[in-house]
Amino acid sequence: MSDEVDVPEDHPRYQSLLTRHRIEAGVEKGITSKQGLIAEGRGEAFDYLLGEETIPSADAAERVAAAYFLLAEHPVVSVNGNVAALVPEEVVELADVTGADVEVNLFGRTEERMQAIAEHLREHGAEEVKGLTADARIPGLSHERAKVDRDGIYDADVVLVPLEDGDRAEALGEMGKTEIVVDLNPLSRSAQVAAVPIIDNIMRAIPNVTAHARDLQDASREELEAIVEAFDREEALAAAERRLREGAREDAQDAK
Ligand code: ATP
Ligand code: MG
Repeated sequence: MSDEVDVPEDHPRYQSLLTRHRIEAGVEKGITSKQGLIAEGRGEAFDYLLGEETIPSADAAERVAAAYFLLAEHPVVSVNGNVAALVPEEVVELADVTGADVEVNLFGRTEERMQAIAEHLREHGAEEVKGLTADARIPGLSHERAKVDRDGIYDADVVLVPLEDGDRAEALGEMGKTEIVVDLNPLSRSAQVAAVPIIDNIMRAIPNVTAHARDLQDASREELEAIVEAFDREEALAAAERRLREGAREDAQDAK
């Protein structure tokens, strides 16, 4: 990983530079769209304000996400161009640990990008990548954006949708799916409509959901259900917003 960018790992901007480099490489490889560059810039600004760390409320939401995945009959991780560029291996690992499917789902769907992302995920260890069949539709969305696999997202009961746009997040919710959103902006519509909004960088969020899933692997259904039921989505959003507006001092309060 350290050979990816020409910057020492102890450089204060290391993580941010690594992220930019991966997105840039993603664009060059045809897996990330130019829009993805803009999304990255927007995300970075929020991450800077969050202190570029997983805040306590996000860690709690990541544990809840893990519990949902372990309780699910059919969990799916939805992957777009930014997610594929930033955390391909981490997504595959999360899917392996929780028995989830991985499905490519793009806002600007083109066959070339779909294939390139699927190939990229396979290079990072994915055995099966869904999304290419596209034999079902999410109701309420225009044609291209609605395409999903019937035995993938369409059939899922729990879907993790990182960096999703608000419309699609809402439409998936209306299909009765439990939606877990990773987004650095707590005011984003996608975060606002999610059952579980995770306000964290995808680079930190996915490995941490996996770590929680490993930790909860032997927990009983009752224990997992208790974790899920204790979650307060409004409070998770409010805690992130406080952190953005007021900085880290509020954290002592959040941890209580
Ligand atoms: P809105 O939801 O506010 O209506 P939008 O979703 O259309 O706007 P975009 O800029 O397209 O706005 O969305 C990109 C979203 O992805 C932003 O909310 C940004 O914070 C988030 N994002 C970008 N990079 C990351 C990342 N690495 N991890 C988590 N979230 C990220
Ligand atoms: Mg959004």
